[in-house]
Amino acid sequence: MELTVDLHAHSVFAGGTQALKITPEKYTENKKKAVKHLTKTNETMPLKGIDLIGTGDCQFTIWTDILKEVFVEDKTGIFFLEGNFNTRFILQTEIIFTVPIQKRSKIAHIVFLFPTFTSVDIFRDLLDKWGVKHEKMARPFVKCESQEEVSKRIYEILDIDPLIEVIPAHIMTPQGVFGSNIKLKHLSDFFGTVTERINVLETGLSADPQFLGLIPELDNKTLISNSDAHSSALHRMGREFTVLNVSKVQYSDLVHSLRNKKVVYTVEFPPEEGRFFLTGHRRNRKKPGVHDDSQYCYFSPQHVPKGDICPICHKKLTIGVFQRCVEIGKAQSEERDINDIKPKQNFIRMVPLIDILSTARNVKTKTAKSLLNDYKKIVSIIGPENILWKLPLLEVENQLSGKIDETVLNALRLVKEGNFTFYPYGYDGEYGTLKLGERGNFQDINITKSSTPLQQTLF
Ligand SMILES: [Zn+2]
Ligand SMILES: [Zn+2]
Repeated sequence: MELTVDLHAHSVFAGGTQALKITPEKYTENKKKAVKHLTKTNETMPLKGIDLIGTGDCQFTIWTDILKEVFVEDKTGIFFLEGNFNTRFILQTEIIFTVPIQKRSKIAHIVFLFPTFTSVDIFRDLLDKWGVKHEKMARPFVKCESQEEVSKRIYEILDIDPLIEVIPAHIMTPQGVFGSNIKLKHLSDFFGTVTERINVLETGLSADPQFLGLIPELDNKTLISNSDAHSSALHRMGREFTVLNVSKVQYSDLVHSLRNKKVVYTVEFPPEEGRFFLTGHRRNRKKPGVHDDSQYCYFSPQHVPKGDICPICHKKLTIGVFQRCVEIGKAQSEERDINDIKPKQNFIRMVPLIDILSTARNVKTKTAKSLLNDYKKIVSIIGPENILWKLPLLEVENQLSGKIDETVLNALRLVKEGNFTFYPYGYDGEYGTLKLGERGNFQDINITKSSTPLQQTLF
């Protein structure tokens, strides 16, 4: 049977700032907030067509305590919110591992899945043993002294329970293992011997199986997609997800399916809309590299200036995911062309319905009531959002015609026909902006805008 999952999310305590306010007296207040978040998640997932989601931050003590209180377990590692059985949850977290490489600190975000609260409690003891400050940070840092220590510690986590799964998160973004903060060539440059235990990697919003097809080392890995949502807002949750083939809905089956390449397909956020797709520097940039509100630049890999240097501020550009995929492909001594890639896994690209409505209605605030009303109306007719992308255009038109605004229907028509682009594309931490009725070529972008004269470089 098919099970639709989103295995990387965050709790209300992610980000650190709220977490710092936590005191025992605030427990009731925090619990209220947490339950509200879980209830909203429970309502949102069915609208997206997602059956199961990760809890996020499952080792964060206050969150663990609340989850233990409000969850009902079916004894197979699957949890439900008491009194509400729409959405299933599994215990999941994201940890930041760091290690000095080339005299700088290399960062990699890593997702872990846990089968039981007991395994989570043992994991927390390990964090204590390593001296990790995890009580004030929902996404803690595990600082390692050497690459050998990275392997050793991940083995220690995996040794807690054979069903714990490790999944490098958003691998191509600056905070992912292949990200640009320090350019590695192979997974083992970070993970060492524990690379053998890595079966699954997360594509991240700015990449999908086609772009990752540029990297030979990933040919035999399983790729999954998750929302990495930091809030329960409709436009954040379920932006990406994975459809797995499982024999039963239980935690062990889910992990078995991940380890045995039983991904039916992934649903991908359009990479061009992702925050780190192209290489560039955004406007209003603070240090390092200062730009005012008229200065920005972004480039496809073939147009990136020499040395990755910004033509405006002369600092290093933020390297986009597209460029990193090309670079790693070359570093692994195989130069593949994005146009020739035949992805090894099925996937569909799904422009989020909220983004389409926001563009069609010209309403920028994606949490606006008017957009939510449009969204709910469409879903009430068609079914969950994922169905919209499976149905042929004619069927969508038949079902929605006369029932929703013509402007909205026309926007859906354009997206389903592929008649859209992003202007600009996502770069340097900014999401791409959807533009309907035009097609773009992300392989030939070379934009530098500056109303003040560019600084002259003397040769
Ligand atoms: Zn992350
Ligand atoms: Zn710059």
